[in-house]
Amino acid sequence: MDFPIDGWSRPFLRDTMRLERKMARILDGTAISAAIKEEVAEEVRKLVAQGIKPGLAAVLVGNVAASQIYVRSKVQTCADLGLYSELITPPETVTTEEMLDLVRSLNDRDEIDGILIQLPLPAQVDTKALLDAVDPAKDVDGFHPVNAGRLQAGRPALAPCTPAGVIEILKRSGIPIAGQHAVVVGRSDIVGKPAAMLLLHQNATVTICHSKTRDLGAVTREADILVAAIGRPGFITAEMVKPGATIIDVGINRITDRVEFERYFAGNAKREAAFAKRGSTIVGDVHPQAFELAGAYTPVPGGVGPLTIAMLMANTVRAAKMRRGL
Ligand code: NDP
Repeated sequence: MDFPIDGWSRPFLRDTMRLERKMARILDGTAISAAIKEEVAEEVRKLVAQGIKPGLAAVLVGNVAASQIYVRSKVQTCADLGLYSELITPPETVTTEEMLDLVRSLNDRDEIDGILIQLPLPAQVDTKALLDAVDPAKDVDGFHPVNAGRLQAGRPALAPCTPAGVIEILKRSGIPIAGQHAVVVGRSDIVGKPAAMLLLHQNATVTICHSKTRDLGAVTREADILVAAIGRPGFITAEMVKPGATIIDVGINRITDRVEFERYFAGNAKREAAFAKRGSTIVGDVHPQAFELAGAYTPVPGGVGPLTIAMLMANTVRAAKMRRGL
């Protein structure tokens, strides 16, 4: 039986709430990325006029299909924005010593401002040793311990691209950060930790969660800004989100299983068509139903992903300027 509540019936209220939930704002990472790239291109034009052409060396080992796609798109973006770039492709059998020689030679070359080593590397290569060998001034991925330390100390640093992109999305969307409770789920060196540090520098009150966090949902429900960087499809469910929160979904998970597809996208005609065509689709670390509760959220794809390349370009230009004391 439907009782009137202050003149409104329950079904009416329920439908109204549903309508309100659908109004969560989508934070368009593709548009924000395009704006940043335009700014980078403008900066490159100014540098080129001064005789400086920022240059990126991208090192891609082996034949991992996803890595090839990422690196080629980074190289293409360099060309689009007027940067110099080089794609170096050592064979799958390359040794740590050979890779170290390569990195040292790139460190020494003046026309190279940024060095990007696409991960993962084959098992025989000592990834840590290699990342540590990159000149911190050319570490455009922001993975070197010197840059991690500088970031923590609040000194000028090349910050990891994806977390830097998270901040750009929030700032350029006019979402307040200072004084907000930001909960970051994930503590990796490349996403979770630097994202937390950058949010802290923006005066958020930051909580970092990980696989040993007790009652994760109770913590995430406190978040004004919830950053999910977990690597598990649809892990953050609607029950774990405070209504009206801003959700930043960093996760990129490819799903190919029909049952899993139904769990996230049942009734979504657009996704259905794409899944039927490709046999796979991408889902973030946040369940799509949780977005309905949000005040604003980054979609997957088209949210944080596009920012990563834009910030790589921005870092390369920044490295070119910093190295020259500009
Ligand atoms: P990692 O695997 O390095 O880190 C995952 C983190 O999630 C760990 O800190 C782990 O905790 C935590 N975690 C795992 N399971 C749970 C759980 N049950 N409860 C709470 N925390 C958990 O992943 P990355 O940081 O490299 O990447 C995270 C996601 O972001 C992935 O989906 C990846 O594809 C995506 N990504 C997207 C990018 C983009 O351009 N948009 C760029 C880079 C990554 P613990 O430390 O305790 O193990």
